[in-house]
Amino acid sequence: MSIIKLKNVSKFYYNKNTIASGFNKVNLDLDMGEFVVITGESGSGKSTLLNVISGLDSYEEGEMYINGEETSHYTEVDYELYRRRYIGNIFQHFNLINSYTVYQNIELALLFNGNKKKEIRGKILDLIKTVGLSKYKNTKVSKLSGGQKQRVAIARALAKDTPIIVADEPTGNLDVKSAVSIMKLLHDISSEKLVVIVTHNYEQVKDYATRVISMHDGKIIEDKKLKPVKEVKTHSLELRNIIFGNKLLLGLRNVFNIKVKFVLLFLVYFFLTIIVFSEYSSLRKINYDQSDFGFNYYFSDYSANRVIMNKKDKTSFSYEELENIKNTDNVESVVEDDLFLDSIFSLYNDEIYFSGPASNIQSIHKVDIGKLPENDNEVIVEVSEYDYYVDTYKEELLNKEFTLRNDTNNIVKDEKLKICGIIYNNDYSIYDMNNKLYLSNTVMNEMRKGNNIFYSTIELSINNHIFSTQDYNFLFTVKPNSKVNDGEVLVMQELNNYCKNYNCTGDPLNIKIKNIYYEDAVDLKVKNYYKKDNFNYLTGLKNYEENASTIFMNENDYNRLFTKDSYQISVFLSDTKKSSETINTLESSGYNTIYMRDILVDEIGEFRGIIKIIRGVMFLIATIVLFFISYFIIKIILKSRNVYFSTIRILGSTKKQAKQLLSIELLLDINIAYFVFILLVVLVKSNLLNSDYIKDMVTYFGIIDYILIYIVLTIMSLLISNRYAHKLFKNSVMSTYREEA
Ligand code: ADP
Ligand code: MG
Repeated sequence: MSIIKLKNVSKFYYNKNTIASGFNKVNLDLDMGEFVVITGESGSGKSTLLNVISGLDSYEEGEMYINGEETSHYTEVDYELYRRRYIGNIFQHFNLINSYTVYQNIELALLFNGNKKKEIRGKILDLIKTVGLSKYKNTKVSKLSGGQKQRVAIARALAKDTPIIVADEPTGNLDVKSAVSIMKLLHDISSEKLVVIVTHNYEQVKDYATRVISMHDGKIIEDKKLKPVKEVKTHSLELRNIIFGNKLLLGLRNVFNIKVKFVLLFLVYFFLTIIVFSEYSSLRKINYDQSDFGFNYYFSDYSANRVIMNKKDKTSFSYEELENIKNTDNVESVVEDDLFLDSIFSLYNDEIYFSGPASNIQSIHKVDIGKLPENDNEVIVEVSEYDYYVDTYKEELLNKEFTLRNDTNNIVKDEKLKICGIIYNNDYSIYDMNNKLYLSNTVMNEMRKGNNIFYSTIELSINNHIFSTQDYNFLFTVKPNSKVNDGEVLVMQELNNYCKNYNCTGDPLNIKIKNIYYEDAVDLKVKNYYKKDNFNYLTGLKNYEENASTIFMNENDYNRLFTKDSYQISVFLSDTKKSSETINTLESSGYNTIYMRDILVDEIGEFRGIIKIIRGVMFLIATIVLFFISYFIIKIILKSRNVYFSTIRILGSTKKQAKQLLSIELLLDINIAYFVFILLVVLVKSNLLNSDYIKDMVTYFGIIDYILIYIVLTIMSLLISNRYAHKLFKNSVMSTYREEA
């Protein structure tokens, strides 16, 4: 049985509007052991016939049998398998990988058949010896002469040990001397195979040919057997797929083997990396800047750079600890009276009042209007730049006298205070209705007195009755009063209900206080009780209604309970971008922290969400545009690689494997670009390299962002290689070659 049989086979070429005939109604039987020479003038259909026989092109009419099997139903995959099992091709233009060495070209054919690199070394060296190129085994093919190239091609065709060798004008590009030796070589190595050779020069082969076929105008016009052929059994190859390690190896080889291509691809991917990074970083920057705005229900001072701190063991801060915190990198200032930041104090007179949190005036070094304070009774106010009243009356406001009240509306200081300076607050935020007050140490000390009462629960026990400020069965509060002696209290008349004979005078009374930081208690004795008519006489105060539920004690007792060191402080950061580092440092020194920026809420949250989505979409669109730009550039760069991929497919690579090789190559390229960029970032961050551009770009990045961008770039690279492979492999192998020619 013939190994190949053609019955009335025709091949047409379809171009836009025309159909050309490659060959027409050809009948042919080819047997193992034959050395068939096909001759004929140019355009007679010789190449077309060879391509159909070797499964590189399809046919339109008739039937071709391979080992008796019909092929008209063959799919591309079937032809792939057929080529791998049966065909070794040799071309006029060699179709070698010019950037590979002689050894690598031959190796390539074997790797695609699933061989291990080590196992095939001996075989490859033998083949190189057979074709007489041992001296050149590590020479790049591009450096060889035509004759030498064709020897490599022959060695490569032989490497796979296929039963059929097909050679299309193998000596067409060679001088006479090389041509003769190539033909001899082909004959020597092919006694056990079927060899089909197309040539113009019959003279060179007539000694070896067992059969000669002449073609004219797409038809066989003569088919002459010249010699008897000895019987040879058909063998087909056992097929194995290229192993993964070798795919990687080839991918890696392809990244570097053409220097110019490597540099160009690297540049494209490097710029792609930089652009994606800077796109993404501007997205992050805008979102970050925006999250500086917002407010918080529990804290009045919701400056984004504020960090509220206490100690893990809930004890008070020592002087050393405060000094260490002040000296921490990126800490701008420390406010020990953290509570004042969230209490509202008001400064008022008959015409105007300012209210807001209070801070120490010593942290102010510059005012916009007026001057810095000269004595303890001078105050600086910080107001919004957009405050119309202040702007209009600024000059008159200076040196006016004001009274200061605290959160519970009590007058802090009897002496009047004066505004000496005004600071404009320009980070305009619609939420920020409050002004800020800056007060001297003396005034702050006054305010600090008893300050802890604001967040303490007070428990009062008398005659086994216990009342707490948390329950509402008996309303009371405690205040200091200068008319009460040490160890004594002045109580309201209502308390008599809980004492013997409705009179508490002389009874022991215990006050216990409790808050998140400490507990304390004092044992006191009731000195007297007050009612409306003797209130003024006993306390020296005028307003009975306002104080009717107050228990008065001596200032010393009061301060012992409520005036303590700082248990909770606030730290303000210079640079919120470095917040996570600073907060880590503080936390690792044993402090609890609450970072204001993390707990800001947002009134226009939904609206901002939409803006974020729009920005995300814009980032996506920019990335897609970038994808196409990169794709087109890479397509141009890869154009020179089309021959490579056609060649490996002729050598037995499937489409899928060729695609994978391309993906591996491009993935390696993007990885190199990415890691070069990361290297730059590391150099810039460690100050070994100076680039404000990169520095700016990465300030907002955490490890997650780097991973995210890496994933985006990897996906882009995979999409590019997929798209390119799809376009490239849409056509048959031969048409890719034709496009190149
Ligand atoms: P030979 O190899 O004998 O020179 P070919 O097989 O290359 O001849 O060509 C046979 C015929 O097919 C010629 O008429 C040629 O013009 C036509 N032909 C070959 N390749 C194509 C193609 N890709 N598109 C259209 N016509 C083609
Ligand atoms: Mg031809």
